[in-house]
Amino acid sequence: MGKMICDDVIRWAAVSMLVLGVMFGVGGDLYGQRTGRRERQRSITKQNMTSWESEHYKVYTNLEREAVEKYVEHLDEVYEAYIEFFAGYDVRKSGRNNAYLFATRQDMLNFLKRQGIDARHAGAMFVPGWGVDGLVVTVEGWSESGTMGVLRHEAFHQAAHQFMGDRLPTWMNEGLAEYFDTSWFVEGRFVEGVVDMDRVRSMRDAVKRGAFIRLDDLFKMTNEKWAKNMRKRVGGRRARVSSKMQGGKHQYTQSWLVVHFFMQHEKQAVRDAFEKYLRVIGRGRTHRQAYASAFNGVKMRDLERYWVDYVMGLGFDDFGEMQLETLFLGEMVWELFKKHGQTGGGEGGAGGGLLWQGESVLKEEMRRLKFEMNVKMDRIGEKRFTTKDEDVWWYQGKDGEKYRYEFEIQEGGAGYQEVWISAKEMEPAVRFKVFAKGANHEGMRFEMLYDWDGFGDLAVVEEAEEIVEVAGRDERRRR
Ligand SMILES: [Zn+2]
Repeated sequence: MGKMICDDVIRWAAVSMLVLGVMFGVGGDLYGQRTGRRERQRSITKQNMTSWESEHYKVYTNLEREAVEKYVEHLDEVYEAYIEFFAGYDVRKSGRNNAYLFATRQDMLNFLKRQGIDARHAGAMFVPGWGVDGLVVTVEGWSESGTMGVLRHEAFHQAAHQFMGDRLPTWMNEGLAEYFDTSWFVEGRFVEGVVDMDRVRSMRDAVKRGAFIRLDDLFKMTNEKWAKNMRKRVGGRRARVSSKMQGGKHQYTQSWLVVHFFMQHEKQAVRDAFEKYLRVIGRGRTHRQAYASAFNGVKMRDLERYWVDYVMGLGFDDFGEMQLETLFLGEMVWELFKKHGQTGGGEGGAGGGLLWQGESVLKEEMRRLKFEMNVKMDRIGEKRFTTKDEDVWWYQGKDGEKYRYEFEIQEGGAGYQEVWISAKEMEPAVRFKVFAKGANHEGMRFEMLYDWDGFGDLAVVEEAEEIVEVAGRDERRRR
């Protein structure tokens, strides 16, 4: 039996949902095919779950296969990337990995309880052994991209276990899992180094107050110490009063940023040193031995200073900027949907049928709209946009030139239309669609779609209250 790696992602989800409100897709028709309630009340076992083998996984789910297929595909692709990341390491365990995808958190808890695991503190986990031996994730209650992020996170733990056993210290295991969770995944490979400005800001505050984990302590941190720190509830009254960075989730933030520093550093020598450190640790050496062989006399104190400078200097990347702008533009389109209506069955249809009038009218209307908002996405950051900003209509292409976002109106089928907003000159090219279903906007959805999963589906305003409620429930459950 190995140690469990549990992630307190519930709190995270709750916080994001509370803060994001509008933008966080929850349940709804996306999971329309879920198993009936009565069926779900049966106790859930490996035997009565739907299961099949994918390329790298043995999948178990109490949802219908169709509903989780996209997640399984994502897992398979991500796993390939992890195999590449661990190239040259010995495989300690071969064969397919188990992946358990549950409809609800309660389903997950019930299943794990039968295996003797109390998972009430965790939102998702990787469990080596215990008759589970796999990653365990809940599908409902997350945006699609949120679920994919959690899958990337847990799949990293799984891969690390497969290639390093339990040699990877928890802080680094979590730091790397967070790093890949935050990264985007495009056409079978990671777009690494995405910067989550919220977390960077909180790290900067901690650095200014001197309330962060000294790098020397972090590198030497035992798994027991990590677990002990997790029990200090960040966000709890006591943690706020002490305003220490050491507790709970803040450990994840710092570990992520230390990994980010090593993986994204402009100097090849720094990136190489980290890779070497990891390899030596993988061979079962101690921190002291690995550090000496990889960092070649660099004093930890100096390394910490470089790291602090790095954190202080981190900024938005072009992709992050584009993401926020397209979100804002999408919100604007959506506002217009609500104002004018966009369906109504053909030209001159009910409510003016804005979209039947073409792209230039749409853009004109958008420009006329007085609209401003804080745009915020899970894990990315926040920025205030107004329609007066000329910037929001432009993005930076792969050649460094500025390009206008393109708008296209398309027939979405089944009586609704879509507006596609794209940044075709980016690498990779990006597009997303805003669409509404139904004449009364019931079930209206605002969705970002790509050839890749980097972005989430966005819930509608009308669902925002429900989202907050869900988050509130999670908060209560945790107490
Ligand atoms: Zn984790």
